[in-house]
Amino acid sequence: MKTRLLLSFPHNLTAEPVTYTLVKRYDLIPNILKADIDHNRQGSLLLEIEGEQANIEDAVMYLRGSGIDVQALKAAIVIDEERCVECSACVAACEIGALRCDEEFKLKFEADKCIECMLCIQACPLRAIRSIF
Ligand code: SF4
Ligand code: SF4
Repeated sequence: MKTRLLLSFPHNLTAEPVTYTLVKRYDLIPNILKADIDHNRQGSLLLEIEGEQANIEDAVMYLRGSGIDVQALKAAIVIDEERCVECSACVAACEIGALRCDEEFKLKFEADKCIECMLCIQACPLRAIRSIF
């Protein structure tokens, strides 16, 4: 299976050989999609990893046990709910139906349907949608 993980490192763990450990100890294939280290030496790493589900679960336990925050990501976009005014411009742009408005006109996002075309980002006048890449 393939999954995307966003790792957030405290300043004392930014030198941790994470990808090496994922390969050698857990037999996983990590692909680094994005890496950031800020001026406080905190860091984040967006990985796509491929391997056996049990190995991925063990690796996530190892990472969390090391003090690294791990979030599993289902989609390539995030919606800033503070900015969103539920105008539905992005719904019209999303031909696949991953974005929709419910009965109360609340914006709903179904990450499993998203094909990562990024059209919704361009359609949003409030810049409330951003790519995680
Ligand atoms: S286009 Fe932007 S502001 Fe309008 S509903 Fe979509 S995310 Fe919200
Ligand atoms: S990236 Fe494309 S498929 Fe995904 S929610 Fe936006 S418009 Fe829809």
